[in-house]
Amino acid sequence: MKATFQKPTGQARFFALLALITVFFLSVLGGCNSSPQTEAAPEKKQRPILIEGPMPIEAEKFADRLKNVKEEKAGTFEFYLGTVDNYPVIVAKTGKGMENTAAATAVAIERYNPIAIINQGTSGGHDPDLHVFDIVLGERTVNIGSLKTPHYQEGEGIHPKEWIPMDLMASEGSAGEDPDAENIRYFKGDKGLLAAAKAVKKEHEKGKVVEGTIGSADVWNNEVDRINWFHENYGTSVEEMEGAAGAQIAKAYDVPYLGIRILSNNKTNGGEYNPDTAAANQEYVYEVVKKYISKLKSE
Ligand code: SAH
Repeated sequence: MKATFQKPTGQARFFALLALITVFFLSVLGGCNSSPQTEAAPEKKQRPILIEGPMPIEAEKFADRLKNVKEEKAGTFEFYLGTVDNYPVIVAKTGKGMENTAAATAVAIERYNPIAIINQGTSGGHDPDLHVFDIVLGERTVNIGSLKTPHYQEGEGIHPKEWIPMDLMASEGSAGEDPDAENIRYFKGDKGLLAAAKAVKKEHEKGKVVEGTIGSADVWNNEVDRINWFHENYGTSVEEMEGAAGAQIAKAYDVPYLGIRILSNNKTNGGEYNPDTAAANQEYVYEVVKKYISKLKSE
């Protein structure tokens, strides 16, 4: 039978146009919706946890614990991408010192978009109550190399005890001239990371775990009077060469950050340098990371 095609009436044309417009708007609306009901919602990409360690002995033990490891490099920085309890974790071997740490932290944030950063490794004690193998959780981290000297003329000597703290982040103006910059800048440790670290304190059996202040600079202080000066004026529990640099960059990108430092030496109570502390710290940090992951998964 031959199909008959009737010329549409004006009313039919109006309804056809209305239907077309409706379909158009519905499809636009559908495009705005990130998870249309007809499609399976794409699995949310998990942001990795970044664990930083300066020296090989301060990073490789943790990297050995990762599953499904893939290595990547950027300059001299090495990143071990893997998993812990099926959650993505990246270990970064940053190299020693403030510059390496700042750069490696920025590269890692730009490349991997971490959900949180733990900077960990060895340190020297400023607090005589802390001993080799004790661990300090960085409730605060501070740059103890950021200083301004008082004014003295030639021949008037050098006076380290009169040096003034200098906060390079106080303003965009000159820190040398600005009295508002004569303050100590503390970076606060992230509450969520601190809570995870506190919850597993008992896992560290070779020493105690305390909250405290981590001081950082590209300096190794061996003058006990100078160490005491920092302890009294900055409240430092330990010193090392990385924490404050990582904290500053993490803050710039608003990424949660915590320093976790084991004492490998303490001049104030005769604690001799022991490199085995580096592995013990990574074992503790591994427990912290597992705790943090379990919290992330339950959210
Ligand atoms: N004893 C080793 C130390 C390496 S350099 C050597 O001579 O080769 C310093 C590294 O150890 C840095 O990554 C720093 O964070 C850490 N560190 C440990 N104790 C320190 C201390 N007392 N002062 C400064 N950094 C310390």
